[in-house]
Amino acid sequence: MKLNVDALRYLSKDDFRVLTAVEMGMRNVYDGFRLTYLGYDFLAIKTLVNRGVFVSVGRQIGVGKESDIFEVATEDGTVLAMKLHRLGRVSFRAVKSKRDYLRHRSSFNWLYLSRLAAVKEFAFMKALEEHGFPVPNAVDCNRHCVIMSLVQGYPLVQVKQLQNPEMVFERIIGLVIRLAEHGLIHCDFNEFNIMIDDDEKVTMIDFPQMVSVDHRNAQMYFDRDVECVFKFFRKRFNLSFQEIPDDIDDAEVDMDESGRPCFSSIAKGSGFLDKDLAASGFTRKDQEDIEKFIEGGVEKDADSGDEENEDGGLVSELNESDISGVDSLHLVELPTLNCDAEGRVEENEQKTEAG
Ligand code: ADP
Ligand code: MG
Repeated sequence: MKLNVDALRYLSKDDFRVLTAVEMGMRNVYDGFRLTYLGYDFLAIKTLVNRGVFVSVGRQIGVGKESDIFEVATEDGTVLAMKLHRLGRVSFRAVKSKRDYLRHRSSFNWLYLSRLAAVKEFAFMKALEEHGFPVPNAVDCNRHCVIMSLVQGYPLVQVKQLQNPEMVFERIIGLVIRLAEHGLIHCDFNEFNIMIDDDEKVTMIDFPQMVSVDHRNAQMYFDRDVECVFKFFRKRFNLSFQEIPDDIDDAEVDMDESGRPCFSSIAKGSGFLDKDLAASGFTRKDQEDIEKFIEGGVEKDADSGDEENEDGGLVSELNESDISGVDSLHLVELPTLNCDAEGRVEENEQKTEAG
């Protein structure tokens, strides 16, 4: 799937009318057409341009497993980052349980989940920013698309040398601790989602999989985030962690013998998530819906080999048309298409694509 932004210029009012009609159709009970990611991209971009959020789309600057990141520019020339969520593009970590879940529940739609991921990411980014966390500035959000400030610097995974690795390490572990103090766990806190600039300032990104500290697997997620950071700094920068506990300047936090912060000494309730996020329009139910599909650590699968791809392909079992490239055609015809109240499409076993 390639977003060809040039095509945007040639789309007519009628084209957008058709895309909007299909989108509405997917929300209501309707037989016939459905949107692909490409059509959804066009609708989101058009809406944000109409709102005056940006005026042009530039080069692609990042590709995550489940997103594409582009530069966009505002009227005054400020460059921002546009993240288009693409859930379903790759297979998931816990593919077996998810596949079972999907088998027993025919009502399903990747676009809906991508929109939830975007709403969630935007809400978390905003709330984190308001609490002084180093995150991109959350600018706007529409459908599956989040607009945020462009982070200067590079993902930590690309950084081969640091002037002061101990200090960067402490900042990063300090962030995991401070998140937990605010009732949150990142759940994908690793060298792909931490950006470092030339002054070795740290910015964290990528929030759709965050959970509350009262999540049933909170301890495991927290320990995994911590472990990722320890492991990366040991391997890349040869850090040994004997003295680290004293250096982390937080008397409230207990460390275990190996210098890792203890989850139970940090997490004290989850007020942050409930109050701030509910206010931003991201509900508990949204959180529950999305948790069924997103699990932290997606990127960590990159080095452990992608077993999920080999075992049949969750992706092809679902909506091939949403996921694979449709360059010239934005609509794919389906034999039947029923939607539930949430706008999720109920799918038949067999699909055919319109020529
Ligand atoms: P995914 O959820 O698919 O992993 P990310 O949010 O981690 O998506 O973004 C993927 C990559 O895009 C990042 O590793 C980073 O290199 C780049 N990126 C994402 N957001 C920004 C941003 N605001 N500024 C600069 N680069 C970004
Ligand atoms: Mg990422």
